[in-house]
Amino acid sequence: MTATMLVSCVPVGHAEPLPPLAPMPPLVEHLLPWTAERDTLTEAYLQAHRTSPLTGNPAIDTYMVPRAIVLHWTAGPTAASAWSTFAPAKLSGRSELQGAGALNVGAHYLVDQNGSIQRLVPDDRVVRHCIGLNHVAIGIENVGGGAGLPLTEAQVAADAGLIRGLAARYPIDILVGHLEYRQLEGSPLFEERDPNYRTSKPDPGADFMTKVRAAVVDLGLGAPPQARTITTTSPARRNDAHDARSR
Ligand SMILES: [Zn+2]
Repeated sequence: MTATMLVSCVPVGHAEPLPPLAPMPPLVEHLLPWTAERDTLTEAYLQAHRTSPLTGNPAIDTYMVPRAIVLHWTAGPTAASAWSTFAPAKLSGRSELQGAGALNVGAHYLVDQNGSIQRLVPDDRVVRHCIGLNHVAIGIENVGGGAGLPLTEAQVAADAGLIRGLAARYPIDILVGHLEYRQLEGSPLFEERDPNYRTSKPDPGADFMTKVRAAVVDLGLGAPPQARTITTTSPARRNDAHDARSR
């Protein structure tokens, strides 16, 4: 295509060309197998947990427009072990999750201790990684976590690069750590039918969230209201959660 043709494609009304998208950071595609079984189990999970109506067609219901990003740690030692854990369609072990559905957990991205990034699942597919937010949230897993294998500065930088690239491509307006997800209860983004299906999560640590947020502060992504307790249900507090979604 010639430069002349490119110029002619600029829509009428835009005096200036749009700025280029922030690039995605370097990453390797290492996709989890997405089988018919995974489709079926994802649909069943969404039917059991979402409060919005669904079509019943996995080819529609298991796709999403990303609106949020949830950061995690694997608590495991290697990227390979995390990939192997996420690969089967069906959950094994994890008795605290089995009652809520047979769909395995997973993530869209896996960030190793050295900051190298693997894409496990396309951005627009629903993955089970955070109660209440799976239908709108991209999940980023970081290898390690906790005292034994702390997350690294390279992972902070890699997560920030991913967030920057994703926020340029999708209408993402909130960034949350898994440890904070219950603060979004009451937000229009949060959908979970079972009020007793909740977990308490430490990942990826408050310190890690502070560092990543500092690295992407210019994006103006919303954060859960830190002072809001998970048991508060007053309308004012609910509005706080709603407002936190706005840039
Ligand atoms: Zn997590």
